[in-house]
Amino acid sequence: MSEDKKESRVYVRFWLTKYNKDFLLIADIDGIGMTSQRTRERLINRLYSQGISNILVLEVMRTMPRHIFLDEALAHRAYEDTSLPIGYKQTLSQPYIVAKMTELLLSGKKMRKVLEIGTGSGYQCAVLAKLVGKVYSIERIEPLLSAARDRFEMLGLENIETHFGDGVLGWDAKAPFDGIIATAAPRMVPQALLNQLAPNGVLIAPVEGQNFQDLRMITRKGKSDKFDEKSVEAVKFVPMLSGVVN
Ligand code: SAH
Repeated sequence: MSEDKKESRVYVRFWLTKYNKDFLLIADIDGIGMTSQRTRERLINRLYSQGISNILVLEVMRTMPRHIFLDEALAHRAYEDTSLPIGYKQTLSQPYIVAKMTELLLSGKKMRKVLEIGTGSGYQCAVLAKLVGKVYSIERIEPLLSAARDRFEMLGLENIETHFGDGVLGWDAKAPFDGIIATAAPRMVPQALLNQLAPNGVLIAPVEGQNFQDLRMITRKGKSDKFDEKSVEAVKFVPMLSGVVN
């Protein structure tokens, strides 16, 4: 690692310790030992070499214990750059995709309020909670949501509010949002989500295409009802479905 990079890393650690005192404690609560620490470092180096350049995103993902978002039987694979099953036919996204979507979201305006569709294990939500003012997250499968809530409590994350319901409708009572992130793929971006974006707000969502899903970044043009849309890359997410599962 170059001297410059080492120096900026030391600086970021200092900054996080000073302004976000509970941050480094998270690294301590997991007690998973040095082997896993090395595996985590490898994952972060890999994300960096794949083009993730936001140092705050990398630092949050380095210290966020991904293994606690998985069943014990899969925990040993938590720091591989791969998506993993979380039950109910759902998956925790690949770390590269979590990092990419988070980085895209943060490249927009200041993110005070962010809405996530698809809490799932809670990992993406927990990463966001370390980087934005407040995260609102909606999940349609109750047992997944209840396990995610327990994890947020264990991690002491207090800037997350969750809702059991259908994310296709968004969360009108809490709108507008500076950013919206969908971690399940709709056939078309739901109009309710576009309506709930603040001026210059950014929506990141995978959208079903003919042969593959397309990760889209949609930005509201000022206060208008016009949107800028760009296609980022091909991705693979579970489908966004309507209704709820108790
Ligand atoms: N962000 C999650 C990803 C989980 S997979 C994580 O980090 O683990 C996507 C999740 O979206 C699943 O849990 C699925 O149940 C949920 N989902 C799908 N359609 C939804 C909808 N309409 N409303 C809310 N959640 C939905």
